[in-house]
Amino acid sequence: MVKEDIRRFVIDNRKALSKEEYTELSSKIRERLCRIDKVKRGRCFLFYYPLKGEPDILPLVQSLLMGGKCVAFPVVKGNEIKAVKVKSLSNFRKGAFGVYEPSCGEHIDEDRIDVVFVPGLAFDKDGFRVGFGKGFYDRFLRKVTAFKIGIAFDFQIFDRIPRDEWDVPVDIVVTPHHIFRRR
Ligand code: ADP
Ligand code: MG
Repeated sequence: MVKEDIRRFVIDNRKALSKEEYTELSSKIRERLCRIDKVKRGRCFLFYYPLKGEPDILPLVQSLLMGGKCVAFPVVKGNEIKAVKVKSLSNFRKGAFGVYEPSCGEHIDEDRIDVVFVPGLAFDKDGFRVGFGKGFYDRFLRKVTAFKIGIAFDFQIFDRIPRDEWDVPVDIVVTPHHIFRRR
C-alpha cells in the first residue's frame, strides 16, 4: 500500500473504535510505557496532545510532573516543531492544524530531550511511520538524540510502510498488546 492508502485505511478504522475501547486501549498503552527503562530513567519528555483518536497518554503527564520530570509539548512554528516546557495541562490552546499547544512556557533545546512520544497514523515493525503527510516529525526527529517511542493501536501496525529518504524511524513502537523494537 502507498502512504495515502494507509492514511485513509487508518482514519476510517479509528472512527470505528468505541469510546470504551479507546479508553481501555489507551490505558494499556500507558501501562506498557511505564515499564520501559528509558521512560523510568528519562528526565525530559516530549509528549503529544492526542488529536483525532490518537492514544491518550496525557494521564502520564501528571505522574511525571509529580516525579519532578521535565515535560514538553510540540508547538508548530512555521515548518518546524519546537518543544515547549509545561508545568501542568492547563493553559493549552488550539494551534496549527487544530492541535492543542501550550500557550506559554520556555522553549527547550532538542538535545535536552531524553524521550519523544511520537504519534502517527501507522507504523511498521522497523519503526517506520506514516503521519498526516506534512513531514513535521521527520524534520524534528532528525535533530534529536532522544529515544523515540511510536505510539499506536494495533490496527495501525503494518508489515512494511513505504520509506522515503527523509523518513526517520522510531526506536520502538508501543501498542496495547505489543512492543516492536527496531531491528
Ligand atoms: P509524513 O511523515 O507526515 O507521513 P511524508 O513522510 O510523506 O509525511 O513527508 C511529507 C513531506 O515532508 C515530504 O514531501 C518532504 O518533502 C517533507 N520533508 C520531510 N522531512 C524533510 C526534511 N528533512 N527536509 C525537507 N523536507 C522534508
Ligand atoms: Mg514521513
